[in-house]
Amino acid sequence: MKQFPPSELLTSLPKQFFASLVKKVGEYISQGYDVINLGQGNPDQPTPSHIVARLKEAAVNPINHKYSPFQGHRYLKQAAADFYFREYGVTLDPDKEVAILFGGKAGLVEIPQCLLNPGDTILVPDPGYPDYLSGVALAKAEIVTMPLREQNNFLPDYKELEEDVLSKAKLMFLNYPNNPTGATATREFFDKTIKLANDQDICVVHDFAYGAIGFDGEKPLSFLQVEGAKEVGIEIYTLSKTFNMAGWRVGFAVGNESVISAIELLQDHMYVSLFGAVQEAAAEALTGPQECVKELNELYERRRNVLIGGLHSIGWNVTAPKGSFFAWLKVPEGKSSEEFANILLEQAHIMVAPGIGFGEFGEGYVRVGLLSSEQRLAEVVERISRLGIFS
Ligand code: PLP
Repeated sequence: MKQFPPSELLTSLPKQFFASLVKKVGEYISQGYDVINLGQGNPDQPTPSHIVARLKEAAVNPINHKYSPFQGHRYLKQAAADFYFREYGVTLDPDKEVAILFGGKAGLVEIPQCLLNPGDTILVPDPGYPDYLSGVALAKAEIVTMPLREQNNFLPDYKELEEDVLSKAKLMFLNYPNNPTGATATREFFDKTIKLANDQDICVVHDFAYGAIGFDGEKPLSFLQVEGAKEVGIEIYTLSKTFNMAGWRVGFAVGNESVISAIELLQDHMYVSLFGAVQEAAAEALTGPQECVKELNELYERRRNVLIGGLHSIGWNVTAPKGSFFAWLKVPEGKSSEEFANILLEQAHIMVAPGIGFGEFGEGYVRVGLLSSEQRLAEVVERISRLGIFS
């Protein structure tokens, strides 16, 4: 059979760091080992039943069997605006300040292509969600990383960025509650970000994927809650985590009108819009009962407490995440993140993600997903304790 080589653009895309780890886990499972997989970020709970019920109802309505309108249904944009007003007190114009997305990832990959020309500079956090790099590669943009250091609560220190980098930068990605570190942002940090963005003409994209997951009574801050945010950027919200809808592929971008219209223009050329029944169910999620969100947050907090409390009790002095469903754990002295992840897999049959997979500044940590039951997390602690590393 003829082989058609992929384009240069395709071959320039970043390699999947975690593919080899996932393969190795598969091998252990096929050999019959009881592997506890905390290495990935897939919510383990089902979508709340009232949202599924709405999808079922909407799926049999012939109106939804036709093409959805370009840019999505207005009722979903209105639902997103209502959600932001109810949750954050932020007022949005549904016609100009909301774009519907096929999940947050789609928006994050589209944005560099919407705003950057080849060679333009983009600032991305390190460690960070690896998919940011996919959009950057497609736009042929230049990456400058912003180190997230523990001593700075995993917030970038803009003073570290050189003046010529700042003057060239056109776009910046931020993400709080943060994947992988579990850190949250402060109002002062967002204030500083907005000032920098204004001074240097940088568009800020705040990825708010874990917006609903905050611990110790702290509700994570939306970037748009901070004065001036809309002038300089947008926020990407997804239903994947808040409502356990990762498989549904629905999210939205909110904020700066010019960026929203650029996203919609690109999407007009690439897609029509989401299945109407998914849009109806998404609107139900955003405007219907919210008790499920509170319960989910409490579930993750209980899991966090079991894991972090347990690890402290066996002598592993780790820091508790403030939000997201990840814990970012410092590996024991003398081991790289990959070596330590391998030890956990080979000797305790626990899969965690080595920090180096999230960037150079992720070295020295592993990321653990709070995506298994409290009982399984207690077992994780017990299995690690048996290794005798921390005693
Ligand atoms: N942003 C971050 C930081 C994530 O961890 C994820 C998913 O894991 C996403 C965005 C994308 O989520 P989705 O495409 O399901 O909306």
